[in-house]
Amino acid sequence: MTAQIIDGKALAQHIRQQLAQEAAVLRAEHGVEPCLAVIVVGDDAASAVYVRNKVIACEQAGFRSIKDQYPAVVEPAVVLARIAELNADPTVHGVLVQLPLPPQFDPDLVLEAIAPQKDVDGFHAENIGALMQGAPRFIPCTPHGVMKLLETTQLPLAGAEAVVVGRSNIVGKPMAMLLLAASCTVTVCHSRSRDLAMHTRRADILVAAVGKAKMIGADMIKPGAVVIDVGMNRDENGRLCGDVDFAAASETASAITPVPGGVGPMTITMLLANTLQAAKQRMART
Ligand code: NDP
Repeated sequence: MTAQIIDGKALAQHIRQQLAQEAAVLRAEHGVEPCLAVIVVGDDAASAVYVRNKVIACEQAGFRSIKDQYPAVVEPAVVLARIAELNADPTVHGVLVQLPLPPQFDPDLVLEAIAPQKDVDGFHAENIGALMQGAPRFIPCTPHGVMKLLETTQLPLAGAEAVVVGRSNIVGKPMAMLLLAASCTVTVCHSRSRDLAMHTRRADILVAAVGKAKMIGADMIKPGAVVIDVGMNRDENGRLCGDVDFAAASETASAITPVPGGVGPMTITMLLANTLQAAKQRMART
């Protein structure tokens, strides 16, 4: 079997066009410009790339963006004060703090300082709770993007065996919640799981979110499975690759996301979607 390639780049582009149109209508009819504020601390190279891409995506969709850059040695109180300012600014709809933060920060404290109504990453405890209860306000961007990618495969989700490898707060856990909400039977695997392959081979839907280059081989995939590769790693030649051995898995899966060009473009797209949603929710409250 040669798998269908799930084209995240094309889907992201399509959704971004829709978001740009909606933003234009919001501006023309209500004078509201969706605005995302991003706080960056330190000079982590990967963070710099992610943030630059977020700012560019905002510009392209006609959103306003604010980027606040702080040196790695900044006092947490300074950043917390800035978050409070952004929380209080009615023209700012989304606030996010780029992770990771330097060691003097307690990331949970920082994430909890963001007003839940502006938490477009969906990491605030209140928003995670809402997601758990099946009434999400903001769905964390990467798993949200994965659900959109799954929709394109037309695979019936109800009753499907879904296996998520990885249990982080930003990907694995919310991913499991969303699949559960879609009535999949969900298994979550992690570094302490015994016999990982035994689980992954049962999956109709396999989501890999580990961060280990090509750790999932074709022998770990059920023939005909839909495989979503969240991982972003470098291979032995320094090229970007996922957690799944794409070439081999493409012979076994029925559909698969490439890396790059799969989940990655969808993550920023869903951030834009959440920011637009925040702007609309703000309008509805005033
Ligand atoms: P974390 O490091 O926070 O979590 C990794 C998870 O993988 C952990 O739950 C860990 O288990 C589990 N794990 C580690 N080794 C194994 C193993 N041998 N077998 C099974 N499970 C294992 O990573 P993130 O969730 O933040 O990210 C995962 C990957 O996704 C990374 O490559 C990251 O770059 C990428 N990513 C991509 C995004 C995109 O937009 N495409 C967005 C976000 C992340 P345990 O909990 O036991 O330690």
